[in-house]
Amino acid sequence: MTASLYIDGAWTEGSGKRRGKVLNPATGQQVGEVPFAEDADLDRALLAAGKGFRVWKAMSAIERSKIMRKAAEIMRERHETMARAITAEQGKPIAEARIEASLAPEHTEWNAEEGRRAYGRLIPARASDVTQLVVKEPIGPVAAFSPWNFPVNQVVRKIASALAAGCSIIVKAPEEAPTCAVELVRCFEEAGAPAGVLNLVFGVPAEISERLISSSVIQKVSFTGSVPVGRHLGALAAKHLKPTTMELGGHAPFIVTEDVDPIAVAAAATASKFRNAGQVCISPTRFLVHDKVFDRFLEAFVEKAEAIKVGDGMAEGTQMGPLAQARRVDSVDELVQDAAAKGATVHVGGRRIGNHGFFYAPTIVANAPLPSRIMNEEPFGPVAIVNRVTSLDEALTEANRLPFALASYAFTNSLSHADRITDDIEAGMLTINHFGLGVPETPFGGFRDSGHGSEGGVEGLSAYLRNKFVSRKR
Ligand code: NAD
Repeated sequence: MTASLYIDGAWTEGSGKRRGKVLNPATGQQVGEVPFAEDADLDRALLAAGKGFRVWKAMSAIERSKIMRKAAEIMRERHETMARAITAEQGKPIAEARIEASLAPEHTEWNAEEGRRAYGRLIPARASDVTQLVVKEPIGPVAAFSPWNFPVNQVVRKIASALAAGCSIIVKAPEEAPTCAVELVRCFEEAGAPAGVLNLVFGVPAEISERLISSSVIQKVSFTGSVPVGRHLGALAAKHLKPTTMELGGHAPFIVTEDVDPIAVAAAATASKFRNAGQVCISPTRFLVHDKVFDRFLEAFVEKAEAIKVGDGMAEGTQMGPLAQARRVDSVDELVQDAAAKGATVHVGGRRIGNHGFFYAPTIVANAPLPSRIMNEEPFGPVAIVNRVTSLDEALTEANRLPFALASYAFTNSLSHADRITDDIEAGMLTINHFGLGVPETPFGGFRDSGHGSEGGVEGLSAYLRNKFVSRKR
């Protein structure tokens, strides 16, 4: 599989010779190559995005939405190809990859429709011969940076919102899983997106972000990834006065109150925790379980985690695949070993699996002390921490302790507990008694170190629009 760059409506290998290797995480073997964009390629992409923006903005919202809907239709036809590319390059089980691929047309269609409703406002004027309008306009060409953990979904969210708002976009998609983005972009190309409206690049991330963000063409920056990189890109964008949407890391608390069935909650938590081998920014991480149900919850959770079938994501029946890169295995293992050294008990997992591919066992660590690194740093892997609490106050204090504030979870049968958690949790997203995050029509984003702004929902779309006020005397 060889990926290409897509610039100004044409596929290209770029002007340089640098290439990245694409590995299958299940084997560690190379399965493809990706060309790296050089400055000259990025400059061409910027020029194209500027030109594409003028063309796209001039089209009516309904014409734009027709092209996007057509792209969504093609995505449905290519569903299996996209799913297989996700598993081959990112590692998740094919069943999960199929879900990810099936959400791509949903994100596209929802944004296509909502883009037609980017209404402005009429404000009553102080004189009868004056009309005051607020007009919603596309903000301009966007530079977007998307990570490797959902190599289709993280890309499509940014493209769909930007295009629906009338913006052009340059996406730097993940070098680790490039074919997924290539397949996606092909759908828009074949649907008739004009040249320059959508551009796809890969390369050395720091070089690309520096070049694109500092260009006067770019009017908006959207980044999904880690907190340190988000901080760096935020500073770069601020220097050039560009607005940003930042979707960064998390360390999601999962509160289990004393009145639930701990076995049922543990079963539900297992699927959510080990999805995508825990490489999910909203992955539940700190399970804060009431003393009265702690032992039964932990026992059931450990039993379920032990039973997870880990293997090559392409194999039928695999429930958890490898981690996406070798560096993730090292990073997760360091956090688990540090927690164990500081007094936590590793009930299951805590070890690599096999001697090829990037496998790490589903891991449950209990009673991790606060100073352990895992209680403070995002594990971004298949590790759950289960700690005992004796009251909802204690659970909320711990839930809100970290600077991360992305997703949060609670299972409770008490209305007053649900109210209290809703009022007092410090998180951009809260889901109670089920797992209800990440659909196209709802906002997705965090507070504090987890970033700012939303993707998804009208909130996500509005980040790609600007307000123009017009006061007109007849
Ligand atoms: P990393 O910090 O090296 O990179 C994170 C992402 O940012 C990658 O996609 C990378 O290509 C990109 N990146 C790095 N430097 C960049 C730059 N200067 N300009 C533009 N993009 C840049 O970490 P990693 O090892 O790839 O991933 C692990 C960490 O990343 C995790 O701990 C997690 O916090 C975070 N992460 C978060 C999400 C998310 O959905 N929020 C997704 C993937 C990774």
